Parts: sequence; structure tokens; C-alpha cells
Amino acid sequence: MGRFAPSPTGPLHLGSLVAAVGSYLFARAAGGRWHVRVDDLDPPRVVAGAADTQLAALEAYGLHWDGEVVYQSERTEAYRAALEGLAAAGHTFPCACSRSDVAAAGGRYPGTCRNGLLPGRTARSVRLRVPVEPVCFTDLLCGPQGHDLDTEGGDFVVLRADGPVAYPLAVVVDDRAIGVTQVVRGGDLLAATGRQVWLYRCLGLEPPTYGHLPVVATAAGAKLSKGSGAAPIPLTSPGREQTLHAALTLLGAAEPAVGAATAAEQLAAALARFDPGRIPTSGARVPTPPGAATVE
Ligand code: GLU
Repeated sequence: MGRFAPSPTGPLHLGSLVAAVGSYLFARAAGGRWHVRVDDLDPPRVVAGAADTQLAALEAYGLHWDGEVVYQSERTEAYRAALEGLAAAGHTFPCACSRSDVAAAGGRYPGTCRNGLLPGRTARSVRLRVPVEPVCFTDLLCGPQGHDLDTEGGDFVVLRADGPVAYPLAVVVDDRAIGVTQVVRGGDLLAATGRQVWLYRCLGLEPPTYGHLPVVATAAGAKLSKGSGAAPIPLTSPGREQTLHAALTLLGAAEPAVGAATAAEQLAAALARFDPGRIPTSGARVPTPPGAATVE
């Protein structure tokens, strides 16, 4: 079972469409379910109406999901329960350190509160203990990975000082609750995966398999993102069909020509011939639509 989990910070762009279509093809080609979750965990980043716009775009592209859409903003109780479980098992500790304390220590948490708060200090967040040895997993597309959490930041925050549960924990709790067995998403999230795998292990759960897709970048090499002003994907013909063709091309799953195929026809054809081995790997460059995206 797969999923697509956009953050509702703006309309979907070509990069997010590639993640949506990629996860859809992986799940559906294996006869699996495909779910959608709205990652609205962080209220200041949420743009009013963006989730509905994103869902409407998925529908317009023929990317129909199973079940109810899950909203992270409605999942606080599940996150609290997971935090309590981690604390009870001794995996977490309250921490009084601020971001600037960690920055002053060179960016890696120095373990100040690991063995208890120093006298006179008050806890602001909760951190998860990380292992000394690297966290290893094999990515479906990027191959064997070893993430050294201890040197890459050290013990990390699972409950933020400003209130919400930290994103990696929310993702793990949600994916587990939805029943996700395969996480296919943008390659920019590969670096965050070691923490998520470690969280699964601390929770006594088997992690899903992961597949990280090539990052879609502008011709100038910048990652396409809402923040960098990437254009919203068009919702009507012919732009919609051309954009879907571009996304499928970036996934190595497009027919040679767009022709007169509707979005639904293109998706059906891509599903029938889907081969993860044809997804371009790092450094590949592929034909792109106006807006000139390339694959990094
Ligand atoms: N919400 C995240 C994003 O839009 C994706 C999270 C995930 O796929 O695990 O970047």
C-alpha cells in the first residue's frame, strides 16, 4: 500500500506531481491501495484552501485515492500516544536546549540533557536517543543506505518546544495507521529517512520499504518547490495532458508522444508498462515541458 502526502503550502507543481504519480504507479502496478494524507501539522505553514486545491488537482489528473483523506491536524491523540510509548520504553528524554544551544555546539546535539536536566533548567522539548551505529536500509531506487544519526545531528526532537509533535514522528505514526507498506516520495526526503526508520524500530515496528524519486529541478539547478515559485500544474486540457506526459517522462513511464491521450489514458498506459528500473537515476536529464525541468 502506498501514499502521497503533500504539505498544503500551495498548489501542486511538477515536482509534487512526479511524487504523486510515482507513488501511484508503484502502488497500483502492484495491485495495492493508494492513499492521500494532508500534512497540515504545522499551522503557520498551512495556506488556507491549499489542501482542497491539491485534492482537486489529483482528481483532475485521474489520480483517484482509496479511503478517506487523512489530515495530520486531526491526529494529535495518536501522536501523543506514540510519544508516551517512546517515553515509557526509555527512548526519549526531556530537553532544555534551544536551537541556538545546538548551533553553538556545531549543529550536533551535544547530549546535554541526555542523562537528566541540569539543575535550574526547564524542559522545552523532547528528544529521541539515536544509536551510535548507522541506521541501514535499502532504498528501492537509491540502493543501500547507512544514515549515521549520531554524527548527523545526534538525538533529535520528537516534541517541539512550540507544541506540535515533530514531523518525522507524525509521518511514522500516520503511515503506520494508514497501513502504508511502501513510501515512494521525492528524493529530497531521502536524507530524512534514517530518522524515520529509527523511529519505527524504537516503536517496535517494521519500517515500510522506501523509494526516493529523482528530484525535479529547474534548468538552473534549483529544486522545484512552492517556495521557489514553481508554477501550479494546469488543471485543464491541453496543459494538463502535456504536464502529465512530462511527469511520466521524468519517471521513465511515458509513451513516446502525447498524442490525443487523455490523462486517464496516459495513466492507464503508464501503469501497464510501469518498470521502476526505467526511472532515471541521479544525474539523468530528460526532455521537459515549458518551465524546463531536469532531473538531478
Ligand atoms: N509532506 C511532505 C512534503 O510535502 C512529504 C512527506 C512524505 O512524503 O513523507 O514534502
